[in-house]
Amino acid sequence: MGKTEQNKTENSNKKKVKFQTIRGMRDILPIDQPYWDKIRKAVDKIAFDYNYGRIDMPMVEPVSLFERTTGKDTDIVEKEMYKFETQGKEKVSLRPEGTPSVVRAYVEHGMKTKPSPVKLFYIGPMFRYDRPQKGRYRQFFQFGFEAIGEQDPILDAQIIQTALRIFNAIGINKIDLQVNSIGCNECRPNYNKLLVSYLKNRKQSLCMNCRNRLKTNPLRVLDCKEEKCTQVIAQAPQSVDHLCPDCKKHFTYLLECLDELKIIYSINPHLVRGLDYYTKTVFELWSQDDKEGRASLGGGGRYDYLIEKLGGRKTPAVGFAAGMDRLVEVMKDRGIKGTKISKPKVFLAQLGDLAKMKSLSIFQGLEKAGITVAESFGRGNLKAQLKKADQLGVDLVLIMGQRESLDETVIIKDMIGGNQEVVILDKVVVEVKKKLDKIKKEVRIK
Ligand code: AMP
Repeated sequence: MGKTEQNKTENSNKKKVKFQTIRGMRDILPIDQPYWDKIRKAVDKIAFDYNYGRIDMPMVEPVSLFERTTGKDTDIVEKEMYKFETQGKEKVSLRPEGTPSVVRAYVEHGMKTKPSPVKLFYIGPMFRYDRPQKGRYRQFFQFGFEAIGEQDPILDAQIIQTALRIFNAIGINKIDLQVNSIGCNECRPNYNKLLVSYLKNRKQSLCMNCRNRLKTNPLRVLDCKEEKCTQVIAQAPQSVDHLCPDCKKHFTYLLECLDELKIIYSINPHLVRGLDYYTKTVFELWSQDDKEGRASLGGGGRYDYLIEKLGGRKTPAVGFAAGMDRLVEVMKDRGIKGTKISKPKVFLAQLGDLAKMKSLSIFQGLEKAGITVAESFGRGNLKAQLKKADQLGVDLVLIMGQRESLDETVIIKDMIGGNQEVVILDKVVVEVKKKLDKIKKEVRIK
């Protein structure tokens, strides 16, 4: 390497490069983890109570999986997918949602032989290249529940109940549930015709997006939030008025089940959910507080043709997904706390190299016995360590100085009573346990 080249390399090594998360992506730091932990615990508990088994699917799937299921003309697939070609020239995508992968797995692993319904739940990141804003990220987290194999509307009611139970378990109670039925392959084509003819007559009053949707996905026009479109939509024919007898019966029974469960809902005739695979029931769960603004927290519905579409046999199914990032935001807005993190009750201080080394096994002994210990092994100064112990508000401080490390003893200082005692190293776990139990009892009596 020539001298100038070497200088260049040295200079560029000196240049500090700072990296940041890319737009729409974020770190979830330890301070926020108690909120996430509370959601995960609620999901696990309700999944267990309602007999759902966990499934973890890959985050990368073939692009065609989503094109075939979620739908080529949907916003998610058309505009928001992270797509790329692998070195092996496969066209793959970061998953934008979970349902297609769950159904792929159901078919791939021959789950049709299992007792019906097959109940699966997942939890993990999803990716959508949408415009980032509060409550909308490019990597966000969802949990989702899918019940595959039953046609009965009672399953639709139960899946709504499951979603609400999770929200309740987190502490989120005020939820606005909206339901609708968008029919099946029997009745939807007729309704679509009616809708298209109504909209075509008012095409000039629709936004450009909706004019295109008229050709590709007319139901989506009902979902448009543009002022000019909402006026047209208000008078549009409604799917619930054009259901076939089977879909009508299904929807009526679902509403009766919700009444029976005392679940409050409203029928939103404009709710279509935007994805291609839904049939019959669709629903969304919204936050109700004005302070939060209106945010959809989750949604789902029935997808009776999806399994067949992915190569399985005709199998009805129903499911929902909820957004964890938004649930955390609602928890914060409503002052709902995350899981309580237990604070360490013991601090382990050390002085000198030998003591420091021995402290490692004392720490492990206490940790194995289920006692959470704080320490500051990187610090040599005893005063600084005791200050930290004080700040943490621990009940006991264990001190191993140079003398104790040679004598194989430890000083146990009671931070509440103020007294201290020297114990032999082998007895330290037993003694600490005894003292902590005593402190606990005294606190209870007070
Ligand atoms: P969807 O799969 O679009 O029905 O979304 C289900 C739920 O996922 C929504 O109700 C939101 O809570 C959440 N969600 C969807 N997209 C995003 C996003 N870009 N950022 C954060 N949460 C999202």
